[in-house]
Amino acid sequence: MGKKGKHSWPAALPAPRMPKDEQERKRRDFVANVSHELRTPVSIIKGFSETLLQDFDELGEGDRKKFLEKIQRNAGRLHALVEDLLSLARLDSPSADFGKEPCDLRSLINRAADDFKSRKGEEFTKLIIEIPHEEVRVQGDPQRLLSVFENLLENASVHAHGLSKIAISLEKDGVHCICKVEDDGQGIAEDDLPRVFERFYRVDKGRSRERGGTGLGLSIVREVVEAHGGTVRVQSQKGSGSAFLVSLPLS
Ligand code: ADP
Repeated sequence: MGKKGKHSWPAALPAPRMPKDEQERKRRDFVANVSHELRTPVSIIKGFSETLLQDFDELGEGDRKKFLEKIQRNAGRLHALVEDLLSLARLDSPSADFGKEPCDLRSLINRAADDFKSRKGEEFTKLIIEIPHEEVRVQGDPQRLLSVFENLLENASVHAHGLSKIAISLEKDGVHCICKVEDDGQGIAEDDLPRVFERFYRVDKGRSRERGGTGLGLSIVREVVEAHGGTVRVQSQKGSGSAFLVSLPLS
């Protein structure tokens, strides 16, 4: 897409898999990351609730409200984190049970797009949807596949700073179908590109946290897509936008 007219995209990078011998170190890093992510919201909730209890009578109504809002916001952060960790744990489990059924990806994409538009309201009139007339059938878990499209749309709206539009498209390519979520925002620097699918990796930590991001969204996307026998790749150019491509086997 890109605001500055046609340009050629660099080659799409596949989401890299970690080599086996790195798995133990990654597991330890993961535990350290989870602890680190939990620490700040837990400290804030603890500190502000203690102050509220101790100084309740001395505090003005404005301060009480401010403290309660901080507690609520950080409880929301904890909730999002725990939900994402549970999703990952379910996907990691060797007995992960995918209730696979025939799904028409067109209706899942339409649903994700409609929900997205009603959540964002007027802010998002520039969502372009390009889907084929005929059914695009895959064998899969509709809820999990829906969460993939929701996640990619949300990411574009949150992270693609300066964007003017988002396009979500679907096409068949032989025995696969490809869903592309593309934006014309700030893009992702080449050095960060191979890492965005890692758990807890964020290009801009402050912006992600401030917008309620857990840093786990794209790793969940990857796990879900791979559990369906598919792949997810990213193409991006700093300043011209990003495109996330999900390829799934047709049923
Ligand atoms: P979160 O959204 O919770 O921060 P994700 O795993 O979904 O975590 O994404 C990882 C990082 O990839 C984000 O923090 C952001 O820096 C970057 N990113 C994802 N999508 C885009 C996009 N469309 N444009 C620019 N950066 C993106």
